Amino acid sequence: MNKSQLKQRVCDAIDYNREKIISIGEEIFSNPELGYKEIKTAGLVSREMKKIGLEVEENIAVTGVKASLPGERPGPVIAVLGELDAIICREHEAADKETGAVHACGHNVQIAAMMGAAIGLTVSKVLDELDGSVEFMAVPAEEYVELEYRGTLKEKGEIEYYGGKQELIKRGYFDDVDVAMMIHSLNLQGDKKVIVGGTGNGFIGKNVQFIGKESHAGSAPEMGVNALNAAMIAIGNIHAQRETFPDQERVRVHPIITKGGDIVNVVPADVRMETYVRARTIEGIRTSNEKVNRAIIAGGYAVGAGVKISETPGYLPLLRTAELDELFRNNAKEFVDESQIIEGADFTGSFDFGDVSHLIPALHPFIGGVEGNLHTRDFKIVDKDTAYILPAKAMAMTVIDLLFDGASVAKSIKENFKPAMTKEEYLAYLEENSRIIEKSEIG
Ligand SMILES: [Zn+2]
Repeated sequence: MNKSQLKQRVCDAIDYNREKIISIGEEIFSNPELGYKEIKTAGLVSREMKKIGLEVEENIAVTGVKASLPGERPGPVIAVLGELDAIICREHEAADKETGAVHACGHNVQIAAMMGAAIGLTVSKVLDELDGSVEFMAVPAEEYVELEYRGTLKEKGEIEYYGGKQELIKRGYFDDVDVAMMIHSLNLQGDKKVIVGGTGNGFIGKNVQFIGKESHAGSAPEMGVNALNAAMIAIGNIHAQRETFPDQERVRVHPIITKGGDIVNVVPADVRMETYVRARTIEGIRTSNEKVNRAIIAGGYAVGAGVKISETPGYLPLLRTAELDELFRNNAKEFVDESQIIEGADFTGSFDFGDVSHLIPALHPFIGGVEGNLHTRDFKIVDKDTAYILPAKAMAMTVIDLLFDGASVAKSIKENFKPAMTKEEYLAYLEENSRIIEKSEIG
């Protein structure tokens, strides 16, 4: 059978299972769970993978699921990924009343598209005619949130890193993977349906504690050290750095106060802040981060408060592999007009797939069919075929391109690929950027 016949077989299988694939996406949407807590979502993935006869490994990196589709003949390993977790957006009408979790980043679409590709490639038995194998990985905890909770998992030794892909890389789940791919939903303007070749910012994550001294806010404020004032001055200081951030680094610093005090008639002695420092390059992240730390410490200095900055490595910038983008673009063209595909995009948001893209050839197109901005109350799926079915088919077809004809395409992409980091360098980077900076009380 030639390559286009194999692709047709896979697409027919996906069409035959269209309702099933969409219902998986919708069921996950109705049961949103936050990172490292995706019990029901992981259970669903595991059940569906077993139903199509795949061997499943559960609880990889706490809640992750991996299913393997071995080929008839040895060859490169292609990983198709999807992310299990939701975000918190209490303003969204579909948000879980208790946790505030909602799939306003479209990760439910990713899982459905991954399942669609899995169904298509498995039931069509095309692997019999290809060289290599496919792994489907439902990855936990992409959203870098609930830093305190993840800190407790780390203390208990259940995780080392806050991002699911970081954890999986460290545990060796990408050691034998030659090419990785996944999609992300995005509200595309006009009639656009697909973006290929997008790149994104990396970041360092920060948990900050300002340590002051409590006193009666009415009768003896002069006896206290106001940690909230330290935090407010720190935020002002951060704003004063913004004109020094190089334009090309597209720096984003966006602190939030997660604890502003305990009760109103006591001068706040314990104030907490979280922030990211994002930039386009690792060097840009580093230099901006030093400025932000200086600004935070100066806030403490101004009022005589102590400062404790706990840094976590965040995610690396998202890199592209142009040959993979080209394959995906050609497959997407089977379903949309060429004018509906955008080439290249520059995101200031971040993805933990960026970490994967530093190590192996990685494909991360954005797919439309949704409306409203990510992480907002307006996000919704409006065109199920574009959102769920198109990426399932285009990813499965890209797998065929990679593994057809002795897997010559996958092999040549791998040969031409120069990783930005080795795994050892990567783990050293994570280690270097997990640190605590403490300035004890000055006043
Ligand atoms: Zn997101």
